[in-house]
Amino acid sequence: MVDLRGKPAYYVRPPTAVLTSGFDPNLSLGSARPAVFRSSTYVFTTPEAAERAFDVALGRARPAQGESVGLIYSRLSHPNAEILEDHIVPLEPDSQAAAVFNSGMAAISTLFFTFCPPGGSFVYTTPLYGGTQHLIHQMLEPFGMRAIAVPAGDAAGIRRAIEGARDLRLVFLETPANPTLVMTDIADAARAAHAHPDHPLVAVDNTFLGPAFQHPLRHGADLVVYSATKYLAGFSDMLGGVVLAKDRELVTRLCGTRAILGNILQPDECWLLDGRLPTVGLRMNRQSKNAQRVAEAIVGHPRVERVYYPTLFEDAEQIRIRDEQCSFPGGVFSIDLRGGKRAAFDFLRRLRIAKNAVSLGGVESLACHPATTTHSELSPEALARSGVGEQLVRVSVGIEDWRDVLADVRQALDAV
Ligand SMILES: *Cc1c(COP(=O)(O)O)cnc(C)c1O
Repeated sequence: MVDLRGKPAYYVRPPTAVLTSGFDPNLSLGSARPAVFRSSTYVFTTPEAAERAFDVALGRARPAQGESVGLIYSRLSHPNAEILEDHIVPLEPDSQAAAVFNSGMAAISTLFFTFCPPGGSFVYTTPLYGGTQHLIHQMLEPFGMRAIAVPAGDAAGIRRAIEGARDLRLVFLETPANPTLVMTDIADAARAAHAHPDHPLVAVDNTFLGPAFQHPLRHGADLVVYSATKYLAGFSDMLGGVVLAKDRELVTRLCGTRAILGNILQPDECWLLDGRLPTVGLRMNRQSKNAQRVAEAIVGHPRVERVYYPTLFEDAEQIRIRDEQCSFPGGVFSIDLRGGKRAAFDFLRRLRIAKNAVSLGGVESLACHPATTTHSELSPEALARSGVGEQLVRVSVGIEDWRDVLADVRQALDAV
């Protein structure tokens, strides 16, 4: 059923493919799970093989069909990165290739440095993950890249920004937005981008709903990026990042930048993340069901002004995007508490199950106050524009029994 290159001989669905493709036990003394190859350098069979490996690695030659080119040095690539990359591709429908990085920010910055040269411009949705926001303002703009911000969910605004941009290289979307879960129409942005004479690439930060519930490549995106630190790894115990692309050539270019920056994911981390991939769908399903039960149950609580969650959207356009773009609502919700920052802090102090920490996507529930932590560097105007108030708390729901999480959230609300 599995050929030597680890590809299933016929189509199987993602949860099957992740367990049957991409790793050949024959290359690891028959071990059912991959070994960890921690070597920094690889021995060539002949000087000619070394020459050939460098020709291919440096883009002077292309590997022939079926040719396996020797590994060189683990900053360029190593067996555990290749195993992980092969395993992750079937989880992202329509992707051809993946590149792994030592954090989500390493993946995002490598993507910008590869596809948006100085003098080029890019369009992005706001609010963005704080690290990405820093990258744009503290590195990309000073390096001479032009950044054009558009509010998430504003389809007409995004279209106008794309149509009006010159030397446009990239459209970068983060959907749903953090922490308000406002959704941006990927297909609409991709249509506008692909009609632009500069042929910009469309990249989506899919950390919140992928790879289980949202498949941006299916909606016309060219690249998908992940903080693997979150749902993919799922246990709040490692950092990682991934970029996947419809076109293998884009990943080859990313790997060229990765070799220069030296930000490939290390062998031990690759091995760890690889072992988490078969359960990401199970974990995310449970987290989404738990979050939905809790979010919907606290609507109307006297201390709750508003709950932000995809199944509770009221805006017709947001409901349309949700239904076209996402198969399940995901494991994160936010709450506006009555009583401002004090109520928000009281609520966090009183939670017993959910821990007060940033990050999300782990098997344990976490809660945080974005205005003073993850989003604290936004100006008051930007916070207001993004709908991130002092009264807002974000909750990432884990895989605990949902009745316990709900009881905990209720007792914390009751005590506010
Ligand atoms: C956490 C996160 C990142 C950054 O990932 P790191 O692994 O922390 O570098 C990027 N985008 C989103 C949406 C995130 O949640």
